[in-house]
Amino acid sequence: MASAAVASAGVVISLGLWSLFWGGLCAALAAWRGRDPSLWFFAGLLFSLFAVIALLILDVNARREAAAADRRACPHCAEPIRHAAKVCRYCGRDV
Ligand SMILES: [Zn+2]
Repeated sequence: MASAAVASAGVVISLGLWSLFWGGLCAALAAWRGRDPSLWFFAGLLFSLFAVIALLILDVNARREAAAADRRACPHCAEPIRHAAKVCRYCGRDV
């Protein structure tokens, strides 16, 4: 009886540490990527690895959008080039 209680307490503590681990990892990743760490801490507590995956997907999307916003079409070959570009990296002509 007592050992069963100890075992279930151990399971609860393990699950708690597991959740805290993912919460902490999410909070650290969120802080590093400029997002709200406390929000992502709770997301990590609840969803563990899935919250980390969601955070990484959001981050990749945000970076892709930022990169796309800095592009314009080359007037000669229509390939996407940086706004500040003086020479097209695709066709090599002045823009
Ligand atoms: Zn070009």
